Amino acid sequence: MQVTLSHLTKKYPGRGKNAPDVYAVNNFDFVIPDGKLIGLLGPSGCGKSTTLNLISGLVKPTEGKIFFGDDDVTELPAENRGVGLVFQNYALYPHLTVLQNILFPLENLKGKNKLSKEAMLEKAHAAAKLVQIDELMERKPSELSGGQQQRVAIARALVKTPRVLLLDEPLSNLDARLRLQTREEIRRIQNETGITTVFVTHDQDEAMSISDLIVVMKDGVVHQIGEPQRVYDDPTNLFVAKFLGTPPICVFDGRISGGKVYIGESCVYEGGKNTEEKDVFVAIRPEGFVPCDDGEFVCNLSRVEVMGRDSSAICSHEKAISNPFRAIISTEDVINKAKGDVNFRIKPSKILVFDKKTEERIRL
Ligand code: ADP
Ligand code: MG
Repeated sequence: MQVTLSHLTKKYPGRGKNAPDVYAVNNFDFVIPDGKLIGLLGPSGCGKSTTLNLISGLVKPTEGKIFFGDDDVTELPAENRGVGLVFQNYALYPHLTVLQNILFPLENLKGKNKLSKEAMLEKAHAAAKLVQIDELMERKPSELSGGQQQRVAIARALVKTPRVLLLDEPLSNLDARLRLQTREEIRRIQNETGITTVFVTHDQDEAMSISDLIVVMKDGVVHQIGEPQRVYDDPTNLFVAKFLGTPPICVFDGRISGGKVYIGESCVYEGGKNTEEKDVFVAIRPEGFVPCDDGEFVCNLSRVEVMGRDSSAICSHEKAISNPFRAIISTEDVINKAKGDVNFRIKPSKILVFDKKTEERIRL
């Protein structure tokens, strides 16, 4: 099911005298392609849940429209939209068994949609099998692990074969290992069912790893939409560049001049076509630092952390916006000292430059 958000806006009145209105979602325009998994990503309070609740029908927009396929569903009540919802706190009924929890949405069907007992059981078992909890049907939620409870919640959302599946931070209550495992599960389930899915998270790793497309939001405004790798490599502004990537991108005060990029006196990039002369923010991805005796860029190393797969050089530099910062050093490259000055060459593809005022990207 293709989902179209057209000028979608949700405004809440400001609380208290002279408090400005809050635009929880501001003029969101996007066509979610059929059968894709979309990661809606941004810091807390940026409007992710509001967007999801607008799609589900739990919240009514102030302006704009929502279409499922060609159907305008803007005025359609939530229960008639055919969406499956999963929240962070699994919201299972504690006194019901797993099977009864999954059956619950089916038992509430009325009129011509009503199913026979056999048909309901068949659907409940199919949904349970899909999320691999079919062995646990007689247990109560309190007898399940967090990961299993979240699977039950997903099965309950899937049992009516929704047109759209909406997941609001579904992994936040799980420990690190289960989070990894469950996010792969969600990807598998989405692939198997082909249900158009919107997955909300504030965790960029999570969004990047399972989404076909990510939407990066801030203060109700969409900043960028694209394939995860594309958005990482080619962010439109400093906010997006900083929000994606762990460790985060390292930002410096710098200057562009004659197609070259300088941090202090060091030239870290040359051969650009941009002929502007101005002070800029220069941002370098942590994996862009290559230790190299004749490297132009000299940083002060305070420590090397060995991670196994690679190591982190904890460095500082007088032009860095925040110190210390982390450079990721691959195992082929060695830093021969424990601390002190280290020379780096910077990989050209890992340097991004931004306007100091607007924080918009400047192409080199
Ligand atoms: P997120 O899920 O990204 O953390 P939300 O969508 O929950 O963010 O909230 C976006 C903004 O809208 C926040 O500033 C929040 O305070 C505000 N907001 C959300 N719901 C309401 C409400 N019912 N009344 C007033 N303001 C709200
Ligand atoms: Mg939220």
